[in-house]
Amino acid sequence: METHKGDNQSNYRSSAATLVNRRTNANDTVINVNGIEIGGRDIIIIAGPCAVENKEQLLETAKIVSSAGANILRGGAYKPRTSPYSFQGLGEDGLKYLSEARKVTGLPVVTEVMDTRLMELVCKYTDIIQIGSRSMHNFPLLKEAGKCRKPVLFKRGLMATVDEYLHAAEYILSEGNQEVILCERGIRTFENYTRNTLDLSVIPVLKRRTHLPVIVDPSHGTGYSWMVPAMAKAAIAAGADGVMVEVHYKPLEALSDGSQSLYPDEFVQLVKDIEKIARAIGRKIYHRKPSLA
Ligand code: PEP
Ligand code: MN
Repeated sequence: METHKGDNQSNYRSSAATLVNRRTNANDTVINVNGIEIGGRDIIIIAGPCAVENKEQLLETAKIVSSAGANILRGGAYKPRTSPYSFQGLGEDGLKYLSEARKVTGLPVVTEVMDTRLMELVCKYTDIIQIGSRSMHNFPLLKEAGKCRKPVLFKRGLMATVDEYLHAAEYILSEGNQEVILCERGIRTFENYTRNTLDLSVIPVLKRRTHLPVIVDPSHGTGYSWMVPAMAKAAIAAGADGVMVEVHYKPLEALSDGSQSLYPDEFVQLVKDIEKIARAIGRKIYHRKPSLA
């Protein structure tokens, strides 16, 4: 790889964060989840509600995103809420509903784990473990994720520099798990018009520095559903391997993040638009055979 003058100034380059480094492994890491390749030629779309709220909400939303072309279903069973009095998630019941939704739609699922004590339980139900922004610096949790045999969707911390983010990812790889999907979800800046500042410039940076798949979450990245389509399309145009978006069958009734959740018809349109962007850069959305029960 050609050297960039900025490369020499990075702590990251001179540090021991080697396993995530493209210099160590020049080939892109492609992660196979039930036949879906993440980080390969095709791009992937992860969609679903912020939180699993009840069985009907999850199953209805899952069917909608599945038939619209999503590849993976998201839904939080353990929610990292700002206030302890806000809805915290359904816990294991939520995990059970996710399993049911997987059975009905055929979509693999991703859900967050925040607590090392729950790692085994969450792994039992999910296809991909999510480590959220607030947990990026929870090194014991990262080490536990590194010992699991499940891919990890690893979000960038709210205030994390690229160096800090990649060192944190190194914790997971250093325990023997190379199946890490990096996820930009916005960082905190002086700008408060949006919920976060979505750092799309990090996509080429992460692609250059690492061999890991890179996806973008424009829902948490902006906080507003009306901004999500523009940022999702921009992410794909900029080289992301996929996007993760929040979709709710009734956003106005959502128990968390309704304002940034797409309505079903908005998601249907977004998938069509993303396909056009993907084709324009020689990629396409991964298509699976329909398996609606
Ligand atoms: C989420 O995706 O459910 C979530 C809580 O996001 P973040 O960790 O990026 O805030
Ligand atoms: Mn959310």
